[in-house]
Amino acid sequence: MIRTYKFRMDPTAKQEASLVAMLDDFRFLYNAALEDRKYMWERHRINVTVRTQDAQLKEIRADNPDYERWSAAAESQTVLRLDKAFQAFFRRIKAGAKRVGYPRYKAATRFNTAVHRAVTGAKWDSAPHLTQTRAYFKGVGHVKVKQHRHVVGLVKTLTIKREGRRWYVILAAEQELQAPLPKTGATIGIDLATGHNGLAYTSQGERIGNPAYRKASPGKLAEVQQALSRTKQRSNRHRKARERVSGVYRKISNQRRDYLHKVSRQLVDSYDVIVAEELNIAGMTRRAVPRPDGAGGYQPNGGNAKKGLNRSILDAGWGILLEFIRAKAESAGRQFIQVNPAYTSQTCSECGHREAANRNGKEFLCLSCGHRADADKNAAVNILRAGLVLREAAQAA
Ligand SMILES: [Zn+2]
Repeated sequence: MIRTYKFRMDPTAKQEASLVAMLDDFRFLYNAALEDRKYMWERHRINVTVRTQDAQLKEIRADNPDYERWSAAAESQTVLRLDKAFQAFFRRIKAGAKRVGYPRYKAATRFNTAVHRAVTGAKWDSAPHLTQTRAYFKGVGHVKVKQHRHVVGLVKTLTIKREGRRWYVILAAEQELQAPLPKTGATIGIDLATGHNGLAYTSQGERIGNPAYRKASPGKLAEVQQALSRTKQRSNRHRKARERVSGVYRKISNQRRDYLHKVSRQLVDSYDVIVAEELNIAGMTRRAVPRPDGAGGYQPNGGNAKKGLNRSILDAGWGILLEFIRAKAESAGRQFIQVNPAYTSQTCSECGHREAANRNGKEFLCLSCGHRADADKNAAVNILRAGLVLREAAQAA
């Protein structure tokens, strides 16, 4: 199994100049290899193969000190990248696609990655503790990296990536398939929450938080967005303001991903069966359940309360949480079951009595048996039960 990790690099000014030069050289190599293929085909009907081009790299390096300074394996990867573009092109022709899209020359803005294999010419210095570590690239040196997650497995490739003014290294690490975790005998249900202070609640009554709200708050986002709207399009200030907005987004999303990785790890380590509700087809939204206001009408429901950005932050969070649980459960031999959440919030988890008026905001009070509980916990217990029923049915079949 291959797992990828993306870390921010912090190159010195000199290293950054080298990184820029490397991408320029590799782009030139890519475009030259494309030119070669085009020319040989148009003039001589010869199909130049990746093998031929790869073999020429040695000469190119010998004749040209600009190319000698970078990793030979990374240059091979660049030629291979062009070959992949051609393979995709041939596949589209074969499939009779209308637009076959012949591989194109890359402009500087469209060429932002350089794949390095972790052989000679590139090295990852894995840190035993999460801290500042380094990635080595031939021609660039040891570049500082902010490692915020543990890297598991053997690092196979280090990909340099430029995003605007930022530099990242993307690691692909090969991992032995994890042995199934020992059984715990425990099961848990998860109810996706509609409130702002939680993303979800478990049948154990625990809250899964939403760091997107806690830390890089929407207030900060609104602030930078307002600043952006006050600048003139295409001006220098506009560009800077736009960078600040995407910076806040990035921060929110990074904090949340880290947190949700930890939460999903804990759940998968502790429970054999994890049941959550199904998100709808788009995978990102959840229907809000109308709540009675106790006077014959309905409270303004979650769907109306969370509009725009708030809504999208919550929605994305749910999607990521469930995706993380699913991936970790799969590799650990745990069961992850998703169920239809209909009526789970208004059904009593003790006696099964279903009535909309059972739920009143955060409070659940069964009008039949008097069972009193936190509304989210009650719903999570119902979700767990629905999942276990599904599981039993599947085992019986
Ligand atoms: Zn009841």
